[in-house]
Amino acid sequence: MDWLWPSLCVGCGAVGEGRLCRACRAVVPARPRLYVRGLAGAWTLARYDDPLGQALRHAKVKADREVAVLLGELLARRLAPVMRDAPFTAVVPAPSTVASRVRRGFAPAAVFAEALGRAHDLPVVHALTRKAGARQATLDRTARRRNLVGKVRAEVSPGGLVLLVDDVLTTGATADACVRELLGSGAQRVWLVTVCVVARRRTRR
Ligand SMILES: [Zn+2]
Repeated sequence: MDWLWPSLCVGCGAVGEGRLCRACRAVVPARPRLYVRGLAGAWTLARYDDPLGQALRHAKVKADREVAVLLGELLARRLAPVMRDAPFTAVVPAPSTVASRVRRGFAPAAVFAEALGRAHDLPVVHALTRKAGARQATLDRTARRRNLVGKVRAEVSPGGLVLLVDDVLTTGATADACVRELLGSGAQRVWLVTVCVVARRRTRR
């Protein structure tokens, strides 16, 4: 069935509107509920179980760079009002491990960062690197934080007002490690943008 892909929306399966249909493109950025120390603000396009989340999973699982670029361009367009108001100085992709880049042939966060940089005329600074550990997706909340200790590093200082870009926001462990490194290496403020957020089940306290 692969030959049918180009005419199907990878988000919702709609036919005849290209790889991301009008309905899937009509998303409005939301501010996810998230506490990460030092983070100035965060935006996301969709929930992971929405059609756009399906499109993101498709891009990652099928290593479909073309769809990743479409999502990045959508992110850049949808964030335009936010980008106009905040004088960002650099876009920094959340780091991926070498193994995941080799497996997929590209890093989704880097593709999204490049689309944002292109659309809004900002430099993309690959400031952060990440050493391999267990795959975050296989771990629970506490283990995710522990797994990242000492693994995320700022190799260069982007300085100024940084827009950190990642594909999915889950527990915020990756964002937390990235924000700490960026602020520690000279960034003044850090905002976060992701394509999707994994909606957390409400827990009673
Ligand atoms: Zn669609």
